[in-house]
Amino acid sequence: MKNPNISRLIAHGIILSGLIFAGLPLIIPAVSEKYMIFICTGGGIAFAGIILGVIRIRCPFCHRGLPLLGIWTDYCPHCGEKI
Ligand SMILES: [Zn+2]
Repeated sequence: MKNPNISRLIAHGIILSGLIFAGLPLIIPAVSEKYMIFICTGGGIAFAGIILGVIRIRCPFCHRGLPLLGIWTDYCPHCGEKI
């Protein structure tokens, strides 16, 4: 998996699923008493997604980090190579 755009989509998916998991007690009343478990676990999942993004979203040519925000990057902002 060399394409950093695919890694970015996966990292965004992990972050989004963590945030959704943290928000489940707001939607489902049956688990609202254990909201702290959901918030901590969901926050951990979202944090792991951010760490994965920082590690994996890199230019395949100059190996410098690409921005986490945005959907798709065609050119590296550091070396100008087409990704
Ligand atoms: Zn580059």
